[in-house]
Amino acid sequence: MGIIDGKAISQAVKDEVKAEVAGIAARGGRVPCLCVIIVGENPASQVYVRNKVKAAAYTGMESRQIELPESVSEDELLAQIRSLNEDPAVDGILVQLPLPKHIDEEKVLVAIAPEKDVDGFHPSNVAGLWIGKDCIVPCTPAGVMRLLDSTGVDLTGKTAVVVGRSNIVGKPVAKLLLDRNATVVIAHSRTADLGAVCRQADVLVAAVGRAGLITGEMVKPGAIVIDVGINRMPDGRLCGDVDFASCADVASWITPVPGGVGPMTIAMLMKNTLRCYLQNFKSASRK
Ligand code: NDP
Repeated sequence: MGIIDGKAISQAVKDEVKAEVAGIAARGGRVPCLCVIIVGENPASQVYVRNKVKAAAYTGMESRQIELPESVSEDELLAQIRSLNEDPAVDGILVQLPLPKHIDEEKVLVAIAPEKDVDGFHPSNVAGLWIGKDCIVPCTPAGVMRLLDSTGVDLTGKTAVVVGRSNIVGKPVAKLLLDRNATVVIAHSRTADLGAVCRQADVLVAAVGRAGLITGEMVKPGAIVIDVGINRMPDGRLCGDVDFASCADVASWITPVPGGVGPMTIAMLMKNTLRCYLQNFKSASRK
């Protein structure tokens, strides 16, 4: 059994971005700029935003952090997004979720210009993914694919089971696996006999949010197991959706938590920001 080292792979992704940004800077170009908006003082969101800003600095990109009070109105937030959409010095816009209850998340995500939508949550990017256009892919699913690529296993014809059907993880992961010619099953809370469904999987992706839901007897011998789950235990430990000890005995490859999918999300955000920059640069030079 091999452990897929998300920490090392995410570092390699960040270093790829860093090298490209260094090249842009060496040619005297403006470096990419990521703008992160955070509303309120959710401590988990603050940690995520801090890590995103830190990663941007590591890659040599510029970043802006806009902190808005919990009481900010939806209109004020939308106005802020519109002004960033218009700002040619900003390549990527990310609004940290969740938002306070009085703000309609969907309205906010739709307001971000699709070409600056580094999270890949705008409906036009979502539609693009599903109709097979080369568009911005959400960071966590893109990270999952990069981890799978690191195994060197060709996914064509493999049976992939994705447990979880959220818009941000389960569904896009399933579509990306389909694009690699895997035969994809999406399981969820109403799936009958989850164990039997999972046991068919050559590739099993768990994106549920239930600590240790996937146990060794649900895994087909030799399967690749990717654990997206991040669950905080009462003692403060982080735990995945996969029971690592029992599944590691059966799997050919497996991701740990922490140190698996988690660090990939931020690394792929850096990649998406660079991509937006390169696209914006191209379209600006066509004008
Ligand atoms: P959601 O809560 O949006 O979705 C969870 C999915 O799991 C739903 O589709 C739900 O089914 C399904 N589910 C719940 N219980 C069961 C069950 N007992 N058996 C089978 N399926 C079940 O979560 P997210 O997709 O946002 O996140 C999933 C996990 O991934 C979380 O732990 C989250 O913290 C983590 N995460 C990690 C990221 C990273 O960077 N590594 C990024 C994003 C998320 P139904 O639709 O029927 O309700």
